[in-house]
Amino acid sequence: MQHSSITSSSGSYQKAVELLGLKPEIAKALEMPDRELTVEVPFRLDSGKVESLVGFRVQHNNTRGPFKGGIRYHHHVDLAEVRSLAALMTWKTSLLDIPYGGGKGGIQIDTSKYSRNEMERLSRRFFRAIDPFIGPNIDIPAPDVNTNAQVMGWFMDEYSQTHGYTPACVTGKPLELGGSEGREHATGKGTAITVRETSKNYDVDLENATVVVQGFGNVGSFAAKFLDDYGCKIIAVSDVTGGVHDPNGLDVPSLFDYNYEHRTIDGCGQGQKLTNEELLALECDYLIPAALGGAINEKNVDTINCKIVIEAANGPVTPEAADVLWSKKVPIIPDILTNAGGVTVSYFEWVQNLQQFKWELEEVDTKLETKMVKAFDEVYAIKQEKNVPMRIASFMVAIDRVARSYELRGV
Ligand code: NAD
Repeated sequence: MQHSSITSSSGSYQKAVELLGLKPEIAKALEMPDRELTVEVPFRLDSGKVESLVGFRVQHNNTRGPFKGGIRYHHHVDLAEVRSLAALMTWKTSLLDIPYGGGKGGIQIDTSKYSRNEMERLSRRFFRAIDPFIGPNIDIPAPDVNTNAQVMGWFMDEYSQTHGYTPACVTGKPLELGGSEGREHATGKGTAITVRETSKNYDVDLENATVVVQGFGNVGSFAAKFLDDYGCKIIAVSDVTGGVHDPNGLDVPSLFDYNYEHRTIDGCGQGQKLTNEELLALECDYLIPAALGGAINEKNVDTINCKIVIEAANGPVTPEAADVLWSKKVPIIPDILTNAGGVTVSYFEWVQNLQQFKWELEEVDTKLETKMVKAFDEVYAIKQEKNVPMRIASFMVAIDRVARSYELRGV
């Protein structure tokens, strides 16, 4: 996995800082994480033996509100990755103008090696280790790769045992424990809204647009479903096992159901099989990488054959690949805008928890729609005014908002 596209030292961040004319001392303060925790996570295996893993929580910036960001369980997790993802959250929450800062956490682990009971003991122990630095007004974790609503439920229970019932200490919880309606599909829906707004501004006919989606997990499958509802033609999708392609358009509802049941698209019986590399090279209007970071990189960027790239995953286009795409006039709609629907509905969940009140799905979806469209319009206006790519325009909007709050608060 590569995450260089999302660090504060990346070209787009520096260019945005330059164009904003940010004072060097403020630029430096905004780059530096506020706090980095590295913790031992000892837990008992089913065999009775004790194992220790390493866990991280990086709190990048809380100028505009409590730190906010997911917790990832993956064997690639390290401090550098968590640090860059934490910074990304600061810019994402600022871009959507929600009252949060940015944080991220993770445990370096191969989840396939552990039972459900082991995962529960490990998760509880990790949350206890970072507990002094967590809370509804301090830092609010959420799910990320390989963590889910159940893990958030264990976190909430662990925290509540010492602090009293506190659902607002994490988001992405099960509905029964204070989760929000609409959270599950929020990132995919936000991605589809972004594609729709892009079509309006880049003169693409949405109803006849051809779409390729890499990754058919939470984000990719819901994005495909909502885009299918908009009338787009989804011609190929993939997951870690490979992809399927039908130039006439896949039957997305049945693919969605198949994937829901089998947790993979392998064996779905639709279209022609192809590899992930072949899928990325297909001719289409929209290419949506929705799997992991670094999917479009120096090695494969010359094969890319789409009109517009929509970054649904975090950091799927490396800075080097972005330079090549821009030189070919292929726009990239950046991750901090495209996939911000998830943290936006996480924010709605936190608001509902603090108010001890529950919103209906329609209210959540309508508020999400308003937030996504407003953020898109703000970024597009800066893009036009300054004649810069959407990625740089997004950083400009986000950094400017944090910098102004930073100056107003003072040191
Ligand atoms: P997920 O685990 O639900 O799904 C990931 C999908 O990608 C699966 O279909 C998996 O098979 C596929 N995949 C994994 N490795 C692959 C590979 N090498 N080639 C092709 N496909 C591969 O994860 P998700 O929640 O959908 O997240 C996807 C991306 O979106 C991640 O980068 C995540 O950080 C980002 N993101 C997710 C959310 C959210 O709310 N879920 C919010 C913001 C950003």
